[in-house]
Amino acid sequence: MEHSHEILVIGAGSAGRYAARAAASLGKTVTLVESGPFGGLCILKGCMPSKALLRPAHTLYFLNHKLEEIGLRLEGKAFPDIPRMIRQKNAMIQEMADDALHGIEKTEGITLERGQFSFTGPHAGHLDGIPVIFEKAVIATGSSLKIPAIPGLRKDWILTSDDVLELEELPGSVLVMGGGPVGLELGQYLLHLGSKVSLVDTNINWHPQVDHELARNYLDAIESQGMEIYLGIRREEFVTRGNTPVFRCQTGDSHHEIPFDKVLVATGRKPNTEHLNLQAANINTSRHGHVHVDNYLRTSNHHIYAAGDVTGVLPVLNLATFQGEHAGRNAALANPIPVRSPLVPISIFTEPEYARVGITETQARDRKIPVQTGRISFSDLGKAIVNRQTQGGLKIVAHAKSREILGVELFGAGASDLIHTLTVAMHFHSTLDQYQEILHIHPTFSEIFKYLIDEMTDSL
Ligand SMILES: Cc1cc2nc3c(=O)[nH]c(=O)nc-3n(C[C@H](O)[C@H](O)[C@H](O)COP(=O)(O)OP(=O)(O)OC[C@H]3O[C@@H](n4cnc5c(N)ncnc54)[C@H](O)[C@@H]3O)c2cc1C
Repeated sequence: MEHSHEILVIGAGSAGRYAARAAASLGKTVTLVESGPFGGLCILKGCMPSKALLRPAHTLYFLNHKLEEIGLRLEGKAFPDIPRMIRQKNAMIQEMADDALHGIEKTEGITLERGQFSFTGPHAGHLDGIPVIFEKAVIATGSSLKIPAIPGLRKDWILTSDDVLELEELPGSVLVMGGGPVGLELGQYLLHLGSKVSLVDTNINWHPQVDHELARNYLDAIESQGMEIYLGIRREEFVTRGNTPVFRCQTGDSHHEIPFDKVLVATGRKPNTEHLNLQAANINTSRHGHVHVDNYLRTSNHHIYAAGDVTGVLPVLNLATFQGEHAGRNAALANPIPVRSPLVPISIFTEPEYARVGITETQARDRKIPVQTGRISFSDLGKAIVNRQTQGGLKIVAHAKSREILGVELFGAGASDLIHTLTVAMHFHSTLDQYQEILHIHPTFSEIFKYLIDEMTDSL
């Protein structure tokens, strides 16, 4: 006889835990199933461990390269103790995973079951081979590492993001494939610890939708620390010269040969849908296997919802938890409620940081939205000058007629925190003129918004 469940949440990562709690808070009994170690990507192999390691790496770089800029001197040199960094990181993430587990265990209405789930029908599946039936379900199975097929790329050269987070010995030189957040953050981590790092990306403008000038200045800031960056690469292949692995590629008319010890593959992840047998439940996916969802977060099978990285909308934690909460709530309701499209601020935790929210000028142009734009450099900001942190820039996009703020891109010290100032303003549909009325503390980095918006509104 099958086990019967009111709401089944598949995957106990961030999206799954939010979905389970939202459904339980509406009085439903929820079974949360997890096939792997408890915690999910963010805690175990993503946001948290990477940031725990970036802090010492950036501090090391600061001590050895930037101290003189603020009038200090270090006798000798600072060195990384990587095994200690890894031990500290592991202790932190274990504690976070334990806290998340206790949170679920003590939530009334949620039962955690361990095992791999796959569908056998629209209301049925197997949990580690044992038949189960459910009324409603939420798919929150996340994503996995993916290695692209590139001619000559040998398995023993490859490092994944999972590997980098456990590396106790530094490779002499690393080729990073992919200029997204993972490639840039972990590439800079290895650079700051002492590896020679070259990063390659097939996009000529880093990211097609962002402001090219701001992106170029951001990447220049990273390159000025010693990372080589090649954009718009073509004709890539791996060869060996003697015993040395070499990456060959072309940019424009130039040919490049980049010797390396290891390759960090950071070209994106694949959704965990391969083993779900989605067709048995009539659930449609994209060409890449992401689960399609509508504006209720329903799949093509309307009593099954999906949330998080598995939907392929944007693989970031804030969206995963937002979707999880709303998918769980809708699964619990007799009549689901449409889910608003939230503003999703994103950041890259390099030194300096990059952050963005809303639409870019390119996206506005594609959507035929008339815009007014403004830009300012951190070198015009008192706080950045006195802190000697003038590498940075900001661009604001506003509607040309209503003057509503539509998007912000920036890089510079603290960008991942700064972005929230305008995210809040944009959430409440602030215009440039309304924002201009807000007093800012002097001297702060947040003043950069005020200075630029003063300019854009022709205020003093
Ligand atoms: C190196 C790295 C750094 C990152 N840093 C950031 C950051 O700084 N900020 C940010 O916003 N995002 C970051 N991310 C992305 C972020 O971690 C993810 O967007 C987020 O964790 C996705 O959550 P999720 O719940 O959708 O998936 P997951 O957390 O992956 O959860 C899915 C769960 O489902 C389980 N599962 C899968 N299949 C089954 C099955 N068939 N049956 C049962 N269980 C199953 C899995 O074991 C897993 O526990 C980073 C990612 C990486 C790789």
